[in-house]
Amino acid sequence: MEPFESIDFYRLDDLLTEEQRLIRGTVREFVEENIIPSIEQHFMDGTFPREVIPQLGELGLLGANLEGYGCAGLDNISYGLIMQELERGDSGLRSFVSVQGGLVMYPIWRFGTEEQKQKYLPRLATGEFVGCFGLTEPDHGSNPSGMITNAVEDGDEYILNGNKMWITNGCVADVAVVWAKLDGVVRGFIVEKGTPGFSTTLQQGKFSLRASVTSELHFQDCRIPKGNLLPDVQGLKGPLSCLTQARYGIAWGAVGSAMACFDCARKYTGSRIQFDKPIASFQIVQAKLAEQLSEITKAQLVALRLGQMKEAGTMTPQHVSLAKRNNVRIALDIARICRDMLGANGVTHEYPVGRHMLNLESVITYEGTHDIHTLILGQSVTGIAAYS
Ligand SMILES: Cc1cc2nc3c(=O)[nH]c(=O)nc-3n(C[C@H](O)[C@H](O)[C@H](O)COP(=O)(O)OP(=O)(O)OC[C@H]3O[C@@H](n4cnc5c(N)ncnc54)[C@H](O)[C@@H]3O)c2cc1C
Repeated sequence: MEPFESIDFYRLDDLLTEEQRLIRGTVREFVEENIIPSIEQHFMDGTFPREVIPQLGELGLLGANLEGYGCAGLDNISYGLIMQELERGDSGLRSFVSVQGGLVMYPIWRFGTEEQKQKYLPRLATGEFVGCFGLTEPDHGSNPSGMITNAVEDGDEYILNGNKMWITNGCVADVAVVWAKLDGVVRGFIVEKGTPGFSTTLQQGKFSLRASVTSELHFQDCRIPKGNLLPDVQGLKGPLSCLTQARYGIAWGAVGSAMACFDCARKYTGSRIQFDKPIASFQIVQAKLAEQLSEITKAQLVALRLGQMKEAGTMTPQHVSLAKRNNVRIALDIARICRDMLGANGVTHEYPVGRHMLNLESVITYEGTHDIHTLILGQSVTGIAAYS
């Protein structure tokens, strides 16, 4: 395969700083050298490339937009570009970094005690510790407020009971941020691997995000010290504020997947001969490429503007919903169409398109399904909540 060429039809690079372009280039090179050669095999085997975790830490990619505690403290546009490049490699890789930074480090950084921050953040930043985020349950996905997992106070401890499902990194995590009800109110708890009463099961049989570990978490009279409660947040706004961080990264990441598919289809159609001509010379093929170019350019603009608002402190969860919803939708549409443009080769692992297409089927579902983000935007427009 020829090396990846990104698209920048609207010269958005002119709006980036030199440092931001440098960071993007570094991550692109890392992905090209360390992910692309082995990712198809990992996808086929259903394994995450764990060997790259220390490198992710060394490059400062874990919790990259957080300040202090060994984190890189990068601006949010750099952070977005990192997500774009990682997902250009594979959505499972970007998911790993999103979960570690946006869903595990962020809540500890934002809602944790100084002791918790000192203990966990530097190790999560280097990749010495892997984290996971337990919100979804077997019977409560889009509506996490109905969660059953609960905590009961008992002397110096809390006792956790319940089950979480679809948890990225679950089986490989050293530390889990788990959301459970304490006296009927959702609270965040840090649970360390090996705590008696805490076990995990690997979820098998996915056809999507295969290069990412997905697990169930089980808590059976699991006793954790009182000091493991995240003190500074109560209610669903705790987990939802983490999801806003991770969804921000997805909005950028999806652009990476879309660009990977577009690049592959553009090159393939330029060299594939049918009816004595490259198939790129047929109008229907060009119409598809023109449509993809337009949608990717619009998605890039949405991501960049979202990043500017995040930097300025004006970004709202509704802004993030629009970006996550739009960018994942267009990426999935592009992946499906590119898959078709590669003909039979599109269903093989020789090209990355089929893998991206399958991955995006998870990305459109997790962190708020496409339809849940539609309802968030509907409420924003009308003032009427239509969830129930
Ligand atoms: C690979 C993968 C990794 C994941 N990683 C994590 C993780 O690390 N941590 C974590 O906590 N969770 C994780 N999830 C879970 C994910 O966030 C949930 O799957 C998601 O929130 C949807 O919940 P659900 O699967 O129960 O679907 P449901 O909520 O049952 O939804 C099913 C369908 O019904 C629709 N629907 C639901 N409610 C409404 C409504 N009110 N109006 C209209 N339509 C509605 C949905 O849009 C969807 O189309 C992961 C999921 C996957 C696939």
